[in-house]
Amino acid sequence: MTTMQESQPPTACILSIGDELVLGTTLDTNGRALSIALREAGIDVIEHRTVRDDRAAIVAAFRVLAGYASVVISTGGLGPTDDDLTRDALNQIIDDDAPQVEDAVARADLESWFAGRGRAMAAINLRQAMRPRSARIIRNLEGTAPGLAASIGACRVFCLPGPPREMIPMLEAEVLPAVRPVGAPMIAKRTLGSFGIGESALAEMLGARMTRGREPAVGTTASGSVVSIQVVARGADAAARADREVAECMAAVAPYGFGSVDATIASTLLDECRARGRTLAVAESCTGGLIGSMLTAISGSSDVFLGGWITYSNAMKEAQLGVDPQVIAHHGAVSREAVMAMARGACERSGASFAISVSGVAGPSGGSLDKPVGTVWIGLHDAGVGAGAGVSAGTGAGVATHARPSTHARRFEFPGARDIVRDRAAKTALQLARWLLRGEHAPILWERA
Ligand code: AMP
Ligand code: MG
Repeated sequence: MTTMQESQPPTACILSIGDELVLGTTLDTNGRALSIALREAGIDVIEHRTVRDDRAAIVAAFRVLAGYASVVISTGGLGPTDDDLTRDALNQIIDDDAPQVEDAVARADLESWFAGRGRAMAAINLRQAMRPRSARIIRNLEGTAPGLAASIGACRVFCLPGPPREMIPMLEAEVLPAVRPVGAPMIAKRTLGSFGIGESALAEMLGARMTRGREPAVGTTASGSVVSIQVVARGADAAARADREVAECMAAVAPYGFGSVDATIASTLLDECRARGRTLAVAESCTGGLIGSMLTAISGSSDVFLGGWITYSNAMKEAQLGVDPQVIAHHGAVSREAVMAMARGACERSGASFAISVSGVAGPSGGSLDKPVGTVWIGLHDAGVGAGAGVSAGTGAGVATHARPSTHARRFEFPGARDIVRDRAAKTALQLARWLLRGEHAPILWERA
């Protein structure tokens, strides 16, 4: 493997190839993933280009980018069909359109890919085993299109297939190790999520950790009402220092912070249930199954999430969850009393050890003076320790908080359009459930007493 010889830090350009990308029907997520990975590897990404499935355009883009970057990485256009032109474009540049050669390893990989799936290989697929004479194959273990590695002058070029699930493993296995500069600083990045607090209030909790230029660096970004905290450590033992910083940030922003890496509020809640031997049920009105969807999106949720009800009408709330018609008649379906009765009903009827319920006005219509659009009540009923169907607690189970049955409810006014109100309501319900199990309590940004 060659190493970068330049004294200047290496620079990279990214070339995304495909009509669908230029037309906007497919979002160029490869460009984003490549930029993030290259930067973490210590390589400056200086330009992105996107071109159509047009050989002349691909040739021109490669020539221009290779003229000023030390690395060019392309994705797309390596398939077997006529609109896949990356291989031919590269061949034109590096081998002057000379006949391509069949690569023995690529052919063997292709044959075993089809054999492993019990499918006959179409003759057209053999094109994918061809490579320019001066190029090297990058093996693809997830699909049929191998990648290509070559040089255009002093610039190293890597052509990877378009499908992200094929591109990413090839990038990690072959490209990054080859282009990572020698002696590049070690970088460790961690992300942790927080919910229920605004970005500026969170920054205050993080305090001096967020000072610019500090090492490790700590920053925040807000997306989908989750405010994430990014930790970046550089240099020797970066990973250990990043992990320590994450633990300290988590303590600083408690109880708002949850998990790290790919954790969601739902996945952290499920872990919390498992660790404490608790099971959960839901009763949803304005969220219409969103909470159940967030929970069941996580594989393995069935061991602690028992199920729930979407009780949209008053009649369903009464018939399915046993909400007293008098409660709805006196207080309305969007009320403390209604969600408390819903949570209690869901808990008792499912046999879960605790339940959460939601009822609100998601809008845009249906608001009133005392219950404006965005008003949501969230209820929680805890059957108490030892009650309800439990799961065997894992090691390190915490102390459950409620010895006896208890019910409570909180009122929120979520700003935003219908889908945002529903999303925030669902996430708030999950966060409150986490806090219930952990015995934590704190104000939520959108709370209205
Ligand atoms: P290709 O290698 O050109 O045959 O691309 C195959 C598929 O990969 C396309 O249909 C897209 O769904 C996907 N794809 C190609 N390029 C990108 C990209 N830049 N970002 C995300 N997906 C892509
Ligand atoms: Mg394509």
